[in-house]
Amino acid sequence: MESLNRIEISRSALIHNFQVCRQWAGDSAVLPLVKADGYGHGMIDCARIFAEQGAAAFGVAEAIEGVRLREAGITQPILVLVGVVPQTVADMVKARLTPVVTDASILPELSRAARASGIELGVHLKLDAGMGRQGTLPADFVGLVQAVLATPHLRLDGVMAHFPLSDDRRSDNSATVLRIFQETTAVLAGLNCGKCCLHLANSGGLFYVAGARLDMVRPGIALYGYYPDGAAGAAAAPEPRLRPVMRYVTRIIQVRRVPAGSGLGYCHLFTTARPSTIAVLPVGYANGYLRNLTGKACALVGGRRAPVVGRISMNLTLVDVTDLPEPQVGDEVVLLGRQGREEIDADEIAGWMGTINYEALCLFGQLNARMMVD
Ligand SMILES: *Cc1c(COP(=O)(O)O)cnc(C)c1O
Repeated sequence: MESLNRIEISRSALIHNFQVCRQWAGDSAVLPLVKADGYGHGMIDCARIFAEQGAAAFGVAEAIEGVRLREAGITQPILVLVGVVPQTVADMVKARLTPVVTDASILPELSRAARASGIELGVHLKLDAGMGRQGTLPADFVGLVQAVLATPHLRLDGVMAHFPLSDDRRSDNSATVLRIFQETTAVLAGLNCGKCCLHLANSGGLFYVAGARLDMVRPGIALYGYYPDGAAGAAAAPEPRLRPVMRYVTRIIQVRRVPAGSGLGYCHLFTTARPSTIAVLPVGYANGYLRNLTGKACALVGGRRAPVVGRISMNLTLVDVTDLPEPQVGDEVVLLGRQGREEIDADEIAGWMGTINYEALCLFGQLNARMMVD
């Protein structure tokens, strides 16, 4: 049996977006970010599709996500971006995950685990080239590289950094971060550390920062059909454009006709000014349809926009369909995505929520049942 609320994930849109990123990447390898359950789109299903399409490696936040990808049969390298701590090292090595190392303190632990498993463990280093969040500072970089090279059972496979402002096309910060990354990693040539994969670009770096592709790119949001700078990015994007992957669909559970002057829902936040027809939806903040969408959101009913009225509650939301052809109980209502000729995208919803498309997708996708469609 299925919930009345469902998230649809479009396989063809995922493939299209991967190929768009693939084209932008040129000769560089593509590492899809599938953290946060694939930005709410389903980590395992997305990773399988990207693997078929030629992904070189994958990025997750915690080791546990990487272990799940291995259990699902993903064989590509999996970079663990956060949570490389003594407590996770054994499981990480057992699953042949690739730790992203931010300082030398973890190296002895990694070396012990690699020896115990009888492998040479490849690691990537995270350089703080300007993000100011995680990683080793440029001044300490050579020391960290030398520490890796001097540690038995470890191999240096890559060096990465992250852009703080690549979604801002007018900022010159990204050019500075790229320059610091290249100047700092230039020392690798003299250190005899073999083939080392350099990677820096997230979606913003891939689309907006000249020269940032390096050996590998790490798109996340672009694979799920959105631009890192939201609606502005979508409006300015060249062809072929990204295609949103997620739809959020619910159903009408009651159609009510109420007189003028009726207070609707908690606090009677909305009072009808005219005799009204109100459709009741079995969705609310427990499904990620946040309470702060109250008074702002629209939903698509019969291919037309209808305003959400009254307080969004835990499991119920009301839409005013007075001006629409009267819908029936059981009719589908689209909260995110296309219905007929109308569309509500994650940038519009993020605007109503006061957040960014990333957060709306993570919320909806992780709090509802998902199904893959073509
Ligand atoms: C999440 C993440 C990305 C992807 O960023 P998008 O803006 O979604 O493309 C790339 N690199 C790192 C280190 C990340 O954490």
